[in-house]
Amino acid sequence: MKKIVDNIIETLLEILPSGKPVPLHEPFFQGNEKKYINDCIDSRFVSSIGRYVTKFENMLAEFTGSKHAIASVNGTCALHISLLMGGVKNGDEVLVPALTFVATANAVTYCNAIPHFVDSNPVNLGIDIKKLERYLQQDTETINKTLINKKTQRPIRAIVPVHLFGTPVDMDPLEKLCRRFNLAIIEDAAESLGSYYKGRHTGNFGLCGALSFNGNKTITTGGGGAILCNNSTIAKKVKHLTTTARVNNKLNYFHDQTGFNYRMPNINAALGCAQIEQLPEFLKKKRKLAQKYIKAFDGIKGASVLNEPDYAKNNFWLNTLVLDKPDRELLQTILERTNNTGIQTRPVWTLLNKLPMYKKCPSMSLTCAKALKDRVINIPSSINLID
Ligand SMILES: *Cc1c(COP(=O)(O)O)cnc(C)c1O
Repeated sequence: MKKIVDNIIETLLEILPSGKPVPLHEPFFQGNEKKYINDCIDSRFVSSIGRYVTKFENMLAEFTGSKHAIASVNGTCALHISLLMGGVKNGDEVLVPALTFVATANAVTYCNAIPHFVDSNPVNLGIDIKKLERYLQQDTETINKTLINKKTQRPIRAIVPVHLFGTPVDMDPLEKLCRRFNLAIIEDAAESLGSYYKGRHTGNFGLCGALSFNGNKTITTGGGGAILCNNSTIAKKVKHLTTTARVNNKLNYFHDQTGFNYRMPNINAALGCAQIEQLPEFLKKKRKLAQKYIKAFDGIKGASVLNEPDYAKNNFWLNTLVLDKPDRELLQTILERTNNTGIQTRPVWTLLNKLPMYKKCPSMSLTCAKALKDRVINIPSSINLID
């Protein structure tokens, strides 16, 4: 084992700068960030009304090829609203991978719905679609065009594919499966800004898709998110719900339902406008870094770095080292040795079905997700690691 660990550390050190700590993912502000933020402060419109919000939304729509983009205060609330638009209601179940960030399941809970965990696959770390198909065949029935969980008798309304670390889920077979089982698709594209499935930007496949601009994501607005939507009626509803459901009338404060204060502030959007201007450059550098890692680990025994599938163009948000076999001890040793030498690496999240609030949720068998927990390490992926 020592030999494998030494080889992995040595290979990382060949690529990474030495003599200073290397964080997992740093944001970069070398464009118009200060200019736009100063302008925003000078305008005194720092809150949820202002020209940067609209500008950022237009830039996002253009970049992603989505008809509409609605900016929000974070990615979690973008998911919450997207799920509501997908028809998720009180007492429904929603299929989510067990191997994802907790926000995916939390957003389901905010709808008073119940996360129902599904397994992942080792190729793209997303939902195992074939296994899910067999599971749905056995454990569900369709009554009045609604998919029912035979065990709980609850409707399974939707599924949330997560494009983990920027690698797109194989959407064609997933869409086919969802048509067959009447499932709405709500994409968690929080990690996949700049990732494409067969030429189409992620977040554009279901009714709505959620993006995140948290500090560690590909671009950042401090905190922030967006809902992508290709249906104009739904997009209007999203805007309405995220802005306290206020009916537009300047001289009258009237709200026609319980809305949310989810609108992105102008000052965050100012940061976003400056960041998205640099996104193509960021993506180029991320791709270069990923290629370096993939090549360097090509001949290394015991581990490899995840590459993009044939059908996809990845943003390579976080590069991912995958051990050939699940080995908790080996994984722990690599984590400790890298972090002790200043190279920040991290394991994947605790599987969501292991968290206290989600322990009792329905779940299919999670063999692969469990194995991946003992195989996957994220390695430094900031854009300044190139040149
Ligand atoms: C970051 C992230 C989110 C949530 O985004 P926030 O902006 O932090 O609320 C949701 N899902 C996944 C998979 C993420 O990585």
